[in-house]
Amino acid sequence: MRIDVLTIFPDYLAPLELSLAGKAREKGLIDVRVHDLRAWTHDRHRTVDDTPYGGGAGMVMKPEPWGEALDELLADGPATVVFTTPSGQPFTQAVARELATRERIVFACGRYEGIDQRVIDEVGSRAEVREISLGDYVLNGGEVAALAVTEAVVRLVPGFMGNAESLTEESHEDGLLEYPVYTKPASWRGLDVPPVLLSGDHAAIAAWRRDQAVRRTAARRPDLLPASTLLDDVEIRPVE
Ligand code: SAM
Repeated sequence: MRIDVLTIFPDYLAPLELSLAGKAREKGLIDVRVHDLRAWTHDRHRTVDDTPYGGGAGMVMKPEPWGEALDELLADGPATVVFTTPSGQPFTQAVARELATRERIVFACGRYEGIDQRVIDEVGSRAEVREISLGDYVLNGGEVAALAVTEAVVRLVPGFMGNAESLTEESHEDGLLEYPVYTKPASWRGLDVPPVLLSGDHAAIAAWRRDQAVRRTAARRPDLLPASTLLDDVEIRPVE
């Protein structure tokens, strides 16, 4: 998978050089390229923003640098262009799974009051466009969203995780939050690991984990439960 990131703060994407992308790059699974949007400006001040038509506070990102940058990146071949925006589709594990099937993703990271709408409309006429929100809050820019989406997507790319099973058991994969997890020692500061986990009884452990996942989801995220089909035989009580 090739990932291009367009931003006015390329340094913000430095974490992509660290463990996640480093590991995936070593394995030849991803090719990450970060681009400074200002490279596609032509004035002395490398201007990327201007005042909004219609008035109002703040500045809007100008269409020309975005248009030229996207022309150049899309000339390399088809890609899904992800505009990070608080008015986009909420980012979920299902969206991450979908994006993990793409061969190329170009992230367009907004700043200021956002990007001139014509950029999104125009690129949508020649490429798949996704407008994605990290959540119902406003960040200063799209870089953190691009990092979060990249991390969630890349770990789903086949071959990235050493143990693919650990992916399927995670929160949101089956519509439930994950059960609580424990490791050694069996007793720590007077707190014991639930005895069933030491029993070696795999069926009992699986049943306990499923029960815990349902209880936790019911207590913390009841909104997720209607989507789950796993509830028929489990009594829902608040987490103790
Ligand atoms: N005026 C915009 C609005 O009210 O929707 C917010 C602009 S925000 C200050 C600047 C940029 O940060 C956005 O263009 C977007 O790229 C990014 N951003 C902010 N919040 C985000 C979120 N929740 N998810 C994804 N990107 C976000």
